[in-house]
Amino acid sequence: MEATNSLLDAAAVGDLVLLDPLTEESLLHTLQERFRRSDIYTYIGNVVISVNPYRSLPIYTPEKVEEYHNCNFFAVKPHIYAIADDAYRSLRDRDRDQCILITGESGAGKTEASKLVMSYVAAVCSKGEEVDKVKEQLLQSNPVLEAFGNAKTVRNDNSSRFGKYMDVEFDFKGEPLGGVISNCEYRSPILGGSHLTRAGDADPCLQTCWRNPLSSSYQASGMEACSIAEPQELQEICELIGLDPGRLERALCSRTVKARDETVLTTLSVPQGYYGRDALAKNIYSRLFDWLVNRINASIQVKPGKQRKVMGVLDIYGFEIFQDNSFEQFIINYCNEKLQQIFILMTLKEEQEEYVREGIQWTPVEFFDNSIICNLIENSKCGILAMLDEECLRPGVVNEDTFLTKLNQLFATHKHYESKETQNARHVMDASLLPQCFRIHHYAGKVTYNVTGFIEKNNDLLFRDLSQAMWAAQHTLLRSLFPEGDPQKVSLKLPPTAGFQFKASVTTLMKNLYSKNPNYIRCIKPNETKTAMLFTPELVLAQIRYLGLMENVRVRRAGYAFRQLYSPFLERYKMLSPRTWPRWAGSDREGAEVLLAELAFPPEELAFGHTKIFIRSPRTLFDLERQRQER
Ligand code: ADP
Ligand code: MG
Repeated sequence: MEATNSLLDAAAVGDLVLLDPLTEESLLHTLQERFRRSDIYTYIGNVVISVNPYRSLPIYTPEKVEEYHNCNFFAVKPHIYAIADDAYRSLRDRDRDQCILITGESGAGKTEASKLVMSYVAAVCSKGEEVDKVKEQLLQSNPVLEAFGNAKTVRNDNSSRFGKYMDVEFDFKGEPLGGVISNCEYRSPILGGSHLTRAGDADPCLQTCWRNPLSSSYQASGMEACSIAEPQELQEICELIGLDPGRLERALCSRTVKARDETVLTTLSVPQGYYGRDALAKNIYSRLFDWLVNRINASIQVKPGKQRKVMGVLDIYGFEIFQDNSFEQFIINYCNEKLQQIFILMTLKEEQEEYVREGIQWTPVEFFDNSIICNLIENSKCGILAMLDEECLRPGVVNEDTFLTKLNQLFATHKHYESKETQNARHVMDASLLPQCFRIHHYAGKVTYNVTGFIEKNNDLLFRDLSQAMWAAQHTLLRSLFPEGDPQKVSLKLPPTAGFQFKASVTTLMKNLYSKNPNYIRCIKPNETKTAMLFTPELVLAQIRYLGLMENVRVRRAGYAFRQLYSPFLERYKMLSPRTWPRWAGSDREGAEVLLAELAFPPEELAFGHTKIFIRSPRTLFDLERQRQER
């Protein structure tokens, strides 16, 4: 195996589980050294870390696919193909549904990684007219979604503006049948225009409407009420969507409010006008995107009733810590906190299952359980999201002050919650935390959130006048996207809040993932400038923290850091004893037992499973390796 080949050369350790000593510095140094040698992949057990090379490497050729196809995971260099191969084989031969979780910040290489996994699986599963058609459909769904859902940003020239989860479904022979895509993202109304320019290539009509996302930048007309500054633009949009301009103008500048039995038309202030316009642009875009996902799903869906095995691929942004963190970061970080929780649960579960399978006694391990943080956010009675919903639903004037005051009281003694108030109570001198902010101690680090805008973003309201105007348009597709605009179907119920919806989709996602065998790909961006061969240590260190890699290693080697089937183990080390060298006549397991007894390692360092040898600490393995090299 690669890791042991060069074990004594710490910088070349291919599996960080074997890192000794394990520190942030040694981990960083190893990744840097490997990156310098163009080894962009490194393992933590069967987690693969991928450092974006920002240049094309000759490691994705058909020859490489062949090399990793049916390979022994440990016999070849760490590679994303090895993970893909392992997952696919386990799905096909052991009937275990798989999920591949890909995380990392924007530009780290998640989407590329998900495509590499998909194309690898497509390359190794069987061929044939029918199968090829399905493969083609699955692979081609990506460019369509990217055309609509990606945009050039400072961080990434081809940045996915959506989180994607795709279940690929296979039959009992491991041939692909089809799939289901879900789009898991919270889209802020404020995000609006910045990424709308590329969208809509398919429909020139909607396209123009987006190129100019209702951009007539509003005018104040006395008494702070707003009016449209560029009637010409309004006219053009209305021609395209088949709507009376007067109708849209009314909906953009005023609002129908029902008070008791009366209906009153009130004019909107300029900021309200902006809010309504942005909310409309965002709604048109996001609903169209959902429509597109549904259309793709309809064409790749598998007939009900067919027995299937599933491989899920999750491409979702990682932990975010900016200078200013708002509701978006809160939501994303909540999702990542849940992914970390499931990582811990699943790794420990997997370990436990392996120990049971191998007949080894399980000893409880210590790890940081982040349920306390998840609970702080999502508890349905008094979590932060529930408190925010309560505030949003409260009649009368709502603002973030009362929301924050409540949180500060409720979590005054919570170990992972900090605010100016709790700091004062604890006599902490800290000027960095502003009164309108609260801070959460996440597993990946402390993040300070500014509550300004939380209520508006959580409410995520589209004024009814606007949805009714869209429904009144003659453009059939547009109209169909706003069913609630049908005046016959007016509902008095408030739509669920953004936080509520996001929590529900995170919960569904977690359930789905938990039912599968997990495989992890952690992506790292080596520099801010998309430059090949440039590795900025501070930047990578921050990601090592946000990805929780140290915790990954700790959990992975909580029980036994190393395990290997008896046969390759004996083959490698049999030279250390005259009793096993050159040939051992008994079983591989007996050989390993004889060999290790002779080398006199402390008994608690080793465990003999049914098919594998387990070694507790990396030191013991190093020791074996050193002895081998000294021969
Ligand atoms: P993310 O989805 O994490 O935001 P992408 O997967 O879109 O990031 O990657 C950003 C860019 O980095 C890609 O467009 C590509 O140029 C480069 N890149 C990512 N992964 C690789 C790789 N394995 N080999 C070469 N270039 C890569
Ligand atoms: Mg992406």
